Amino acid sequence: MSPRPRFPSFSATLADQADALPAILPERLPELALWASGESIWEWHAEGDRHVQQWFSTEDGSAHMVEDTLADFIDSLVPEHRDAFRLTWRMHVTGTSGVLDTAVQRNTGKGVRWIRLRGRAVSFCEDGRACHVVGTVRDITDQREADYSFRLMASAFASSRDALAVLRADWRLIEANAALHALLGDGHPLADQDLRRFLDIPASAREQLDACGYAQAETRLHTAGGRKVPVEIALSRFNAEAGSVSYLVATIRDITDRKRTESELARVSRFDPLTELPNRAALQHHLTQVLPHASLARQLAVLFIDLDGFKEINDSLGHDAGDELLRTMARRLQAALRPQDTLVRWGGDEFVAALEIGAEPERARRIARRVLSELSQRMTIRGHTLSLSGSIGIAIAPSDGSDPDTVLRHADAAMYAAKNAGKNRFALYHSGLAADALRRMTLLAQLRIAVERRKIDFVVQPKFDAQRRITGTELLARWESEGNGVVSPAVFIPLAEQGGLAVALGTLAIERAAEFAARMAAAGHRLPVAVNISPLQVMEGQLDELLARACARYHIKPDQLELEVTESVFLQDFDASEQRLSALREAGYAIAMDDFGTGYSSLGYLRRLPVDMIKIDRSFLIDVNDDEKSRRLLAGVVDLCRALGLRTVAEGVETEAQFNLLQSLGVEQYQGYLLGHPVSVDTLLTQLSA
Ligand code: C2E
Ligand code: CA
Ligand code: CA
Repeated sequence: MSPRPRFPSFSATLADQADALPAILPERLPELALWASGESIWEWHAEGDRHVQQWFSTEDGSAHMVEDTLADFIDSLVPEHRDAFRLTWRMHVTGTSGVLDTAVQRNTGKGVRWIRLRGRAVSFCEDGRACHVVGTVRDITDQREADYSFRLMASAFASSRDALAVLRADWRLIEANAALHALLGDGHPLADQDLRRFLDIPASAREQLDACGYAQAETRLHTAGGRKVPVEIALSRFNAEAGSVSYLVATIRDITDRKRTESELARVSRFDPLTELPNRAALQHHLTQVLPHASLARQLAVLFIDLDGFKEINDSLGHDAGDELLRTMARRLQAALRPQDTLVRWGGDEFVAALEIGAEPERARRIARRVLSELSQRMTIRGHTLSLSGSIGIAIAPSDGSDPDTVLRHADAAMYAAKNAGKNRFALYHSGLAADALRRMTLLAQLRIAVERRKIDFVVQPKFDAQRRITGTELLARWESEGNGVVSPAVFIPLAEQGGLAVALGTLAIERAAEFAARMAAAGHRLPVAVNISPLQVMEGQLDELLARACARYHIKPDQLELEVTESVFLQDFDASEQRLSALREAGYAIAMDDFGTGYSSLGYLRRLPVDMIKIDRSFLIDVNDDEKSRRLLAGVVDLCRALGLRTVAEGVETEAQFNLLQSLGVEQYQGYLLGHPVSVDTLLTQLSA
């Protein structure tokens, strides 16, 4: 049986009425209306203060009636509404108000409910007061709650600090809150405006909105004043009632501050605060951008630049001085590079430059040379005069790699090769570098054993005066390694320095020099023996003791030894080196500046150096007999030395023509294959005695 609608009646049972469905009696209509609207009717009789309420249950339609007094009714109200109700009531029954219409909260079996009570006096007593009042009561709790949440929403909408707008589906504004007005500035009357006039809605947000009714995006808002404000927008579609047209709610948040913080963070994360250069992350970013475009016509050179000996300075002068030094070096690097080149601080004392060099790898070499010369200029930091060199490894894209990691790794490997080759130079990457590095490691291990076991030999090369008489000798190290045969000192000396063997090797050399000087003196030839001293040994600081012990042990005087140092000894801490060498000179050892002219020293500061003689590098002799310019250069150097009171020794004299020229210039001593090769100590003693 299908359920039927049930019509209630105050006068009949439901069952009775069910069958009378088609014919509803006209006099029953008010009851039905009452039932349908969910209202109750009430009446009040002044006589006996009777208050009667009748209603139908919305659940089963059953009729209900309650009788009490008005006082009972007032008691059922929440306390804070009772006085107000009494007043309203009194106004009505005394005839002051025509209708009774009030909303109050009442305690019921279903908790506290809002009710709306309406009524009207239908008869009056003699004193003019109402004696019968009739009306309806309705539970309006749900409506009140809806009202409340609406008011809440409205006030939230109005007072939200985020700009809010309600829009039609065609983006036209229905409502905008104060924050949106403020954000846009005064120029925009908003009603019925298309939101897209002042807000860019990204296509992706529109698609997302269509797909899921909600979208979020970052975009820009154009203010009345023409400013562009970065904003975050959230859009959501809603239907006010089921099936009705849809609306959009837009939340627009000004993210200027957040953007500023973000870009500051991005800046900070890509910058090195010490040198104010971009950092490693910035380089990665840059290389990722440019490497894909590298070609043989558009090559990219990556220079890995490492400062030589920075650690020692940092350790000895302190970190503040170290920082200052790095800042100076960063400025110099920038000066040596072109404006379009990218320079970053890689970390520590390492820098990387990325250069676009077109189709000319030669450009990379040219710039590397400029960088080296710029770096090695002298400077004064916290009262210390010093200069530092750099070692540079160069890798070129695309031939040496086409992704940032490979190119950087190869440039780094080349940088190590430059260090190993003696620092203050650049090296280009080639595929053999890894094998070279391995070979060097093996060689260093063998050298360490050789030095420990004193398996280093020394030969001596005589020095002559203009009359070809031997006036002195130079001790030169020799090493015959197992498996690699005779290794050139040009190879194993730098290796020893890097491997921490310089002092041990130097100690051996000094002892052998003293021993040889003593043997020559014993044979009646009191000639000085020159020994090559590594800059590291000068820096190390125990050279004076070592020399004194060797002299004492072999009973020789300091003037029987000469110390040959290269300009690089002055490179790091000029003042400390100057002090130590001056002290050694005062102790009686002659100091010779070796390989003069190959380094970085300017002739200008030659007079400040505590040296007795200059060994003019053999590179000055190349071409000297064919080229007027070379000859003049050599003559200038010799003159200068003479003017400064320095003795001169010419190195690498190989021909009679060179010898004659040097003689005519007035050089004092000569060393070279023309007059005497390096020979064993015994051979030289024999030669001397011949
Ligand atoms: P150096 O001090 O400039 O030594 C002179 C170098 O020139 C020696 O090479 C010598 O054999 C070479 N030489 C001499 N006359 C001629 C010539 O007429 N023509 C040419 N082409 N070369 C000539 P060597 O023995 O291979 O030594 C190379 C370098 O190794 C030395 O250059 C020196 O800087 C370093 N060295 C050698 N022995 C020692 C040592 O005991 N201690 C240190 N610290 N360094 C050393
Ligand atoms: Ca030498
Ligand atoms: Ca030399």
